[in-house]
Amino acid sequence: MSDLIINEIKIGPGENRVVNLNEYYLPTGALMEIPTYVYRSKKEGPVILFMAGMHGEEVNGIEIMRNLIRAHHFENLLRGSVIIIPIVNVTSFIHKQRELPDGRDLNRCFPGSPRGSMGSRIAYDLMTQIVRQIDFGFDFHTGGAEINNYPQIRCDFRDKKGFALAQIFAAPFIVNSQSREKSLRKEAHDRGKPILVYEAGESNRLNKLGIDEGLFGCLRILKHYRMIRQEETIIPRPKTILLKRDIWVRAKMSGLFRTSKKYGTFIEKDWVMGYTCDPYGKVQSELTAAENCFLIGLNNQPVVNEGDAILHLGME
Ligand SMILES: [Zn+2]
Repeated sequence: MSDLIINEIKIGPGENRVVNLNEYYLPTGALMEIPTYVYRSKKEGPVILFMAGMHGEEVNGIEIMRNLIRAHHFENLLRGSVIIIPIVNVTSFIHKQRELPDGRDLNRCFPGSPRGSMGSRIAYDLMTQIVRQIDFGFDFHTGGAEINNYPQIRCDFRDKKGFALAQIFAAPFIVNSQSREKSLRKEAHDRGKPILVYEAGESNRLNKLGIDEGLFGCLRILKHYRMIRQEETIIPRPKTILLKRDIWVRAKMSGLFRTSKKYGTFIEKDWVMGYTCDPYGKVQSELTAAENCFLIGLNNQPVVNEGDAILHLGME
């Protein structure tokens, strides 16, 4: 069983350590660190990555990581290794915003370069220091732009390895989704390392259901690979729905948007899902379901422009 090496620090079998992914300097000269928690058993087994805060305002994933560390599940792993990066995009977390200081999206900087911008260098370090050494991983996100996502795992159903992992994680929904160019998921997949994206809740809000489901998913993975004791934590039996397709419903007009439907619920064809209307009570436009579907993401922003994505629907 070989050493894991992160930022030139060796972590041998049976060792638990916190290391920095790399050193990055801010314009003030302050050192920015990206703490990376490594837990290793003496016994051979999978090397799993759990990471969050790619978009720093997506706090649910960060809270899931905090819970995992705090619960001491990994300090005596029965086999394999776990790497946890609670906040990969530190500056974005401090500023409670999605982007890096230069306006870039870290998740479009992959595979990165050691001489690029901050995002490009973080992406490069993740690929070369972490992804290279893992077997698979989970990247925790939250709905962007005021969209509240019902807990869901996103993966490409054609990727057998990734799809199998999604079923073990067993979030309430597994959504078939292709990875985007320059994203961590795409670049890791191209190197034979499935990284699944978990989405839950909305930016800058803690969402209990999303945090709980994320934790249950991580523990199901660890139990499945016999890395923690089977009796360690009671996890509810999963009820997972596979969604082969998804679409966004957009606002037909600018104005106020409201819905009476709860996210995560089933919606029958022709049911009214919500209304957009002008603020003066003159015009009202109904949004109806074109087919049977589940409401997997819901806009919580009442003021919308024509064409804004407001409802995310998934079909079995
Ligand atoms: Zn995100």
